[in-house]
Amino acid sequence: MSIAIRIDYDAITANVRTLRERAADAQVMGVVKADAYGHGLVQAGRAARAGGATWLGTAQPGEALQLREAGDTGRILTWLYGTDGPFDSLVAADIDMSFGSLKVLEAIVEAARAAGRAPRLHLFVDTGLGREGCPLDLLPDLLDRAKQLQDEGVIRMVGMWSHLAWADQPGHPTINRQATVFLVALELAEERGIALEVRHLANSAATLTRPDLHFDLVRPGIAMYGRPPVQDPDGRDFGLVPAMSVTTRVALVKPVHAGQGVSYGHEYTTSRETMLGLVPVGYADGVFRGGGGGRAHVAIRGTRYPIAGRVCMDQFVVDLGPDTEVTEGDEVTLIGPAGPSAGDWADAVGTIDYEILCRFGGLRPKVEA
Ligand SMILES: *Cc1c(COP(=O)(O)O)cnc(C)c1O
Repeated sequence: MSIAIRIDYDAITANVRTLRERAADAQVMGVVKADAYGHGLVQAGRAARAGGATWLGTAQPGEALQLREAGDTGRILTWLYGTDGPFDSLVAADIDMSFGSLKVLEAIVEAARAAGRAPRLHLFVDTGLGREGCPLDLLPDLLDRAKQLQDEGVIRMVGMWSHLAWADQPGHPTINRQATVFLVALELAEERGIALEVRHLANSAATLTRPDLHFDLVRPGIAMYGRPPVQDPDGRDFGLVPAMSVTTRVALVKPVHAGQGVSYGHEYTTSRETMLGLVPVGYADGVFRGGGGGRAHVAIRGTRYPIAGRVCMDQFVVDLGPDTEVTEGDEVTLIGPAGPSAGDWADAVGTIDYEILCRFGGLRPKVEA
């Protein structure tokens, strides 16, 4: 295997414990969508449970079902589908479901009636993100229908929830505005006599910076994997530990003359006689091509080297300098305690940690660290 994605599941457990302390009286939902941000759905889910996550959350319903099939018996919420469900399977598996429109609600109800079983539902309110969920204008009608179905015993309304647009910028005025809309939405439910088990709004950033918005349940994702979405004023990353490391080994070390163009398009040219190191991973392995041209770095024997020239499909090159001790077989750290962080990569290629983790982790089998 040319690239090793190592996951420290104990770090995920410890991070969830840390977040649970932050959450105080609120429960914690470990968000494990997208194969747990590239960390491996089932194992990350188990690690989160061990840290005290009483809920797991997945966008894709298939991932919620996979968790059940793997033996998870706790509360699981899933939220991203149209009228196509698959609601029969979700009802049968006792997965909590989200809805934000009458059409989706009616599709869930059809499956519930067929199964003779009342599913647990969470109404998603669009409080201002402008993505999924029911806008406030349409909420009264949706709540009326939900109440009616609940009174008939067809569904159980257990939650109302929403998601923040700017949580990673504490102090952004939209955060309080969204919170206010959420409170209005909760009041509309209360007026109708809908008693909720859980109200939830906070992602990782709000879990860490807005205790007043924790409500009954917080939904951290990225923080669980050890990447703080906001700066810790104490400079300690909130005590979170990165769970993913990405390594490979040097495939070739060779001397070249000054003026040697390196990799496709010769974007890098050696300025002196030097040693080049060939690193056998490329964009097919999740290495962002935008990290070429010296933007991203890797660490070998404790030294950081910029990527020299372009990242290719399966490989890239670093300029080791004339006096290097680096040799074939040495470990190359792309992400890890001994090298760059996912955040360093994100800064280098103009994205966010989330995409770096999903990209590296999403393509390859994971090894337990
Ligand atoms: C992804 C997601 C989260 C987790 O967000 P983080 O920023 O990773 O903590 C929470 N809630 C919803 C609805 C999400 O889609």
